[in-house]
Amino acid sequence: SSNSVNGVRSQFLEYFNSNGHAVIPSAPLVPQGDATLLFVNAGMVPFKNLFTGAETPSNLRATSSQKCVRAGGKHNDLDNVGYTARHHTFFEMLGNFSFGDYFKAQAIEHAWNVVTKVFGLPVEKLVVTVYSEDEEAAALWKKIAGLPDSKIIRISTSDNFWSMGDTGPCGPCSEIFYDHGPDVWGGPPGSPEEDGDRFIEIWNLVFMQFDQSSDGSRVNLPKPSIDTGMGLERMAAVLQGVHNNYEIDLFQNLIAAEEDIYKQKSNAENIGSLRVISDHLRSSAFLIADGVTPSNEGRGYVLRRIMRRAMRHGHLLGSDQPTMHKLVPALIGEMGAAYPELARAQAAIINTLEQEEGRFQRTLGRGLALLEDATSSLSKGDVLPGETAFKLYDTFGFPVDLTQDVLRSKGIEVDEAGFAASMKEQRENSQASWQGTGDSGASKIWFQVRDAHGATEFLGYSDETSEGVL
Ligand code: ATP
Ligand code: MG
Ligand code: MG
Ligand code: MG
Repeated sequence: SSNSVNGVRSQFLEYFNSNGHAVIPSAPLVPQGDATLLFVNAGMVPFKNLFTGAETPSNLRATSSQKCVRAGGKHNDLDNVGYTARHHTFFEMLGNFSFGDYFKAQAIEHAWNVVTKVFGLPVEKLVVTVYSEDEEAAALWKKIAGLPDSKIIRISTSDNFWSMGDTGPCGPCSEIFYDHGPDVWGGPPGSPEEDGDRFIEIWNLVFMQFDQSSDGSRVNLPKPSIDTGMGLERMAAVLQGVHNNYEIDLFQNLIAAEEDIYKQKSNAENIGSLRVISDHLRSSAFLIADGVTPSNEGRGYVLRRIMRRAMRHGHLLGSDQPTMHKLVPALIGEMGAAYPELARAQAAIINTLEQEEGRFQRTLGRGLALLEDATSSLSKGDVLPGETAFKLYDTFGFPVDLTQDVLRSKGIEVDEAGFAASMKEQRENSQASWQGTGDSGASKIWFQVRDAHGATEFLGYSDETSEGVL
């Protein structure tokens, strides 16, 4: 239907295409020629050089649905998944872009058309924000949308001022929020309850109008530009009349597949795990399709952390055999038409998930038992010693954020400084013990061995620190 995820995506792209925008396919999740960024996390990323003027666009207007991952980097929503109604680690950002062509007035006009005419949202459910100094935007919302002053909220924080970096293009933002109603906890943007899920941000319009130099001063760009980002899943939720993103068609279908494969009917107790797995399945599969493989550093380690968090939830659902990979056909059924790379990489995705889960399952149960032991005498507000978190990391393959995730429901925190100290100590010990071998590949080999055979039983700190190398 037109309100399905696939329907919303095409309606958006069609609107902008019929208004002179070139439809640009999503770029891969691994940024091309940008070592500063872990993953593409916004629709504008592939267009950076067009905004700075380093490259000339062949069309001054573009529209896209861009694959985004917000995990592990500056924008990290990993800890939000399973806790808010609106965050994923992988999502699609719909956007329209003007490279020195139209500016603020037309951007607001297009956004208002899309939201109220194409998607037909009731005006009384919408509020917008503007940057506190952006009188021009406030006046345009009033004129174009006819919104009363009470629905045009002025925000003075950096939430409504965007910049590409310390220098370069920057400017005020304006965001459109949808009010899911008083049954949901939360308050309007700018209020103390804004982090609740009642008022959900659906669209962010960035008005790139300044060029910032290294001393912080700003001059007007001769040709200001537009960058916008709308969360596809959030818009689909609004249109499907559900509050939580995980209740839209795509996630309902993935969760139905999980119910089959994990042999669990969804209920109040397991719905959190089912949702986390559906989210992490998407980010893992898309990352693998774009060439990321699980490893112990950089992008590969973010992927491993996402997969292992999902696999821990699989364990909660009772699975003791690799299971997550069996969900891949369902995902391809949902998203394969829009993203053919998924089907092309099907075998790699399945193998990678199956191997990683098999590997992790060799230590997962014992690690959880150790954690259970270590926390049996702890209660809410207590802190797990960093040494224990490190033991779980080093011997049982628990990324520290996984341990934190397990303990979150109990209100127990992890001593992160202690964890870092254990890590440092081990690194120094191992550097000392490898010195003189002249074999800088030693640590790599150690990891390959550990990955292939799983971590060994815990043998005591001295044994472990002498062989663990990072
Ligand atoms: P929020 O404040 O809700 O975390 P944001 O301000 O971080 O959102 P932007 O960086 O402005 O989000 O991204 C543009 C749009 O992308 C948002 O308006 C939202 O619709 C969508 N979006 C952002 N983060 C996520 C996410 N983790 N999952 C799903 N959609 C997202
Ligand atoms: Mg955010
Ligand atoms: Mg926001
Ligand atoms: Mg925003």
